[in-house]
Amino acid sequence: MPELPEVEVLKRNLKKRLTGARIEDVSITKPHILKSVKPHFTALIGKSFKDFERRGKYIFFDMDGLFLVYHGGLSGILDLRDVPTRDTSFYLKTDRGLLIFRELSTKKTAGIHLTENPETLPFIRKLGIDALSVDFSPDYIKNRLRRRREWIFNILRDQGFVSGIGRAYANDILFEAKISPFKPGKRLTDGEIESLHYSTRIVLKRAIEAIERLYGDSLEIKEKRDFLIVYRKKDQPCPVCGDTIQWKSYRDYAIYYCPSCQGVE
Ligand SMILES: [Zn+2]
Repeated sequence: MPELPEVEVLKRNLKKRLTGARIEDVSITKPHILKSVKPHFTALIGKSFKDFERRGKYIFFDMDGLFLVYHGGLSGILDLRDVPTRDTSFYLKTDRGLLIFRELSTKKTAGIHLTENPETLPFIRKLGIDALSVDFSPDYIKNRLRRRREWIFNILRDQGFVSGIGRAYANDILFEAKISPFKPGKRLTDGEIESLHYSTRIVLKRAIEAIERLYGDSLEIKEKRDFLIVYRKKDQPCPVCGDTIQWKSYRDYAIYYCPSCQGVE
């Protein structure tokens, strides 16, 4: 699933390529992608893209007071082409080409919402502070961790705690911070909280730069995360201490860590 860095680069590229473009037509081939639509999606015809904003893993397309809110889910992808592809669920015909919303798997987890005010959508209201917001501070983290006994790995992925981080980047953030993914949130020391705050910003910013180098101004951004240090690097040597990177299977995914650098608790 795309996380903050992929979504941020997508937003920047949408901004570069589509700001000012006018919507001439809309077409829907797989209606399941439209999750909530008020007004009707034909209201988009004649509108122009004013701006693009990211909130956590969501992008808001601002079109003259009408907002399209998009989440890529597990396999959603955007593309700017001349003709739709077979896996296109929805497209907007603009004066710069077709902006197509595709889904690369049959799981159908991508979603589009049309609204006059994104802040009224319940899942947007529930989002915690964005991981790159200046309000995501050590004090904020400390207050919010006070009563939480779950593993810090799971807290970081909780979009109500902080929005934008998922099961890939949480591994590298905790590695960078030298904190065990299994440490209960409330037991983090002040020093660890400072370190977690710094590492969150540094890991996400480095990832944004790496993705921009990989994809240029393309909209077709996939989850190519070879630049991460521990994520999916099971049995490889830790570049800091040389110990072997471990993993622990949890639910339907894995948590990666270096036991020497991060401890095992
Ligand atoms: Zn290590």
